[in-house]
Amino acid sequence: MIDPFGRSVSYLRVSVTDRCDLRCVYCMSEDMTFLPKVDVLTLEELDRLCGAFVAKGVRKIRLTGGEPLVRRNIMTLVESLGRHVAAGRMDELTLTTNATQLTKYAEGLKAAGVRRLNVSLDTLDAAKFTAITRWGKIEQVMDGLMAAKAAGLAIKINTVALKGVNEDEHDDLVAWCGEHGFDLCFIETMPMGEVQHRAGQYLPLSAVRARLERRWRLTDSDHRTGGPARYVSVGETGGRIGFITPFTHNFCESCNRVRVTCTGTLYMCLGQQDAADLRTPLRASESDGPLNEAIDAAIGRKPKGHDFIAERAGTAAVPRHMSVTGG
Ligand code: SAM
Ligand code: SF4
Repeated sequence: MIDPFGRSVSYLRVSVTDRCDLRCVYCMSEDMTFLPKVDVLTLEELDRLCGAFVAKGVRKIRLTGGEPLVRRNIMTLVESLGRHVAAGRMDELTLTTNATQLTKYAEGLKAAGVRRLNVSLDTLDAAKFTAITRWGKIEQVMDGLMAAKAAGLAIKINTVALKGVNEDEHDDLVAWCGEHGFDLCFIETMPMGEVQHRAGQYLPLSAVRARLERRWRLTDSDHRTGGPARYVSVGETGGRIGFITPFTHNFCESCNRVRVTCTGTLYMCLGQQDAADLRTPLRASESDGPLNEAIDAAIGRKPKGHDFIAERAGTAAVPRHMSVTGG
């Protein structure tokens, strides 16, 4: 799949549910209304949809949400997609998760062929964690993380840099990740959905990096994971820190990804509203013909880039919440 700007689309992110067991303040409002079940693709439909993308050249799939591991019977989808990896049709199957369910699922994920996980964690402080997630318990996340580590899964911690919330903890996070052998990636808040607590929390990662450099020896690294992060190596820990900077850097030139929601809506760009309905062609026919046509038409209008601008970091550039597309 080649888009109009010559970029090859080889990475599919699939939001398998809009539901979550947490309510992070920058991601969801407290009283979210979730989708009715009929609108949500079944796991079999999601599997078929992913299979169509794999047949078109997608080499990497990331399951996300909402919280992917709260979807009932999610392991049937993970196991089915894992077979594409085992057969060499795909390079990688991975997940982004809040880690609350990992004590239950870590071993199964590893057995299904998952090698790496992205875990979202903004603080190491129990009270702050509960405040950010509105009711989460950090012990559950720590237990999940340790279960994943014990199962042999490589872990990258994703931390949203939040002004006045966790900026005093970035050094501790670097040290803690170094200790456990986790990579760490800082993300700027993005203007997604009407959530109450984002205004004023935007913290440019240039400032985060400058502050980290007071304590750590950071050297630019050419490490790439096929994503938008730019990495540095940490001299003292031997670990890596990534920075995802949608505002301070334009990360669109090398964009290789598209996102599909749990309703089968395909977003060609995280920061744009244009979308394609894949559920109708998927449900209209047992053959993949109509689905393939809809995918081709959508890739043919993948936009050049997003419209996020830093000045608007407190207001929504796109009205959908991050939990719709899963970041
Ligand atoms: N529930 C899973 C999790 O938290 O890892 C997967 C879905 S969550 C929507 C994916 C990522 O999006 C998380 O790392 C979260 O911190 C990030 N995120 C949510 N809202 C965001 C926002 N407004 N700006 C930047 N990142 C955001
Ligand atoms: Fe749930 Fe992840 Fe959004 Fe937090 S960031 S509310 S864990 S979907």
